[in-house]
Amino acid sequence: MVKCPQCGFETPLVGSWQLAKTKRGKEVYLAYEVEGDELKLEIKEGMAPEGNVSRGDGVCLKCGAHIPNDEVVKQIRENEKERMLAVALLNSGRGGEGIRCAF
Ligand SMILES: [Zn+2]
Repeated sequence: MVKCPQCGFETPLVGSWQLAKTKRGKEVYLAYEVEGDELKLEIKEGMAPEGNVSRGDGVCLKCGAHIPNDEVVKQIRENEKERMLAVALLNSGRGGEGIRCAF
């Protein structure tokens, strides 16, 4: 989690919102919504949106501000905050392929 220098929101930096993909091509992803200062997450099926970090630069999920890499590195160095967003379990048992996801 990195604090946005523009709005102060603690935004996660996620390279890919996709949680899992089965051999049959079913994709499960984490959908997000920002309500006030709260990050709401939901597990959905379908195409995942693009992540909000690339080449070390981040984008605030709340205000869309660009968070430059040196700011990301500085914050991680000073106060690394990690948060588990979700867990995906892939099951390829007899009943066919299944994906179970949980927060
Ligand atoms: Zn922001």
